[in-house]
Amino acid sequence: MIGGGQLARMMVPPAIHLGLRISVLAEGEGMSAARAADAVGDYRDPDTVYAFAETVDVITFDHEHVPGEILREVERRGTPVHPRPDALQFAQDKILMREKLGELGVPIPDWAAVSDESELQTFIDAHGGRAVVKTARGGYDGKGVRVVSDSGEVRDWFAALDEDGNGGRLLVEELVDFTRELSQLVARRPSGETRTWPVVETIQRDGVCAEVLAPAPVADPATLDEAARIGIVVADGVAVTGVLAVEMFETRDGRVLVNELAMRPHNSGHFSIEGSVTSQFEQHLRAVADLPLGATDMTAPAAVMVNVLGGPEEGPMPVRYARVLAEFPGAKVHSYDKLPRPGRKVGHVTVTGADLDTVRAEAVAAARAFD
Ligand code: ADP
Repeated sequence: MIGGGQLARMMVPPAIHLGLRISVLAEGEGMSAARAADAVGDYRDPDTVYAFAETVDVITFDHEHVPGEILREVERRGTPVHPRPDALQFAQDKILMREKLGELGVPIPDWAAVSDESELQTFIDAHGGRAVVKTARGGYDGKGVRVVSDSGEVRDWFAALDEDGNGGRLLVEELVDFTRELSQLVARRPSGETRTWPVVETIQRDGVCAEVLAPAPVADPATLDEAARIGIVVADGVAVTGVLAVEMFETRDGRVLVNELAMRPHNSGHFSIEGSVTSQFEQHLRAVADLPLGATDMTAPAAVMVNVLGGPEEGPMPVRYARVLAEFPGAKVHSYDKLPRPGRKVGHVTVTGADLDTVRAEAVAAARAFD
């Protein structure tokens, strides 16, 4: 596993259960998965990655940032990489992703790749005077996304592209009038076997995922089928191996448009640790090891996951940990063992049960009790 964040950390228990030995190349000693790490080093340094790859049978990731050329060389030297670099590029670069989704005939927002302010202004003017601008690479949790009505509002981003000197472009999209955001998780093995989980609703606050409702409540059966269909078209179309999250917008007129792809376990799938027969973390390992995939049925009618974010106060999450466990014995609390900076994801809480509203109220209350 390259990357030592919470996703790598949550991969460790299922690896033990499956009898797979997991090695983590963490970015630093203080990383969430560092206690499970066998190595610490920079994933952008080719020799560090090659040396790590020699110690394992197969490589996978907890983030999408390892440069493609390093991964191609790892493959050439004989260690399989999943997802393969040819698939991963579509999660690394939002312009490539939009091009590919267009080719696959998947519904997406209207978009363009623009290289200067005048091209951007033309798009804004043609789309009702507002648009969403995104950096093609390196964005996460809404960093690298701006809603603009004037092209001058991203002058700094164009300037940064010029400094890079590789003639980069920004992605611009229509501002979608969505009623909610959905996420479809899919797992795919190298042999092509796929499994989908029920589509979930994701609720973002300040660009960060706050809550996940599984399955997405009051969904039209046609929407559920369409989300699963799109998930499989994308998984097969990019030949992903491992878990793929397809983030979508549901529009007022009942359409589903794809926003984003993530090729790894995803925040929208944390509910599956308790809420599914096979969690996304176990499934990712099965897929990467090319083992048969597990059932993805829900273990209860409803599961709700609420993220715990670091607040203004310093001090580790465990300060209030015991109190939350005492007050909410039905909640499953996950700590990422990270220092709580304001807004940083430091853990999550999941509650499962028969009734979505009851489950949600308990999960929200348990997560808030950390404040
Ligand atoms: P990141 O890679 O930082 O997660 P996203 O592309 O997923 O960036 O965008 C972050 C959030 O911004 C989305 O979850 C959504 O709420 C909003 N957003 C992104 N694109 C659009 C769009 N075209 N129209 C309306 N809102 C958007």
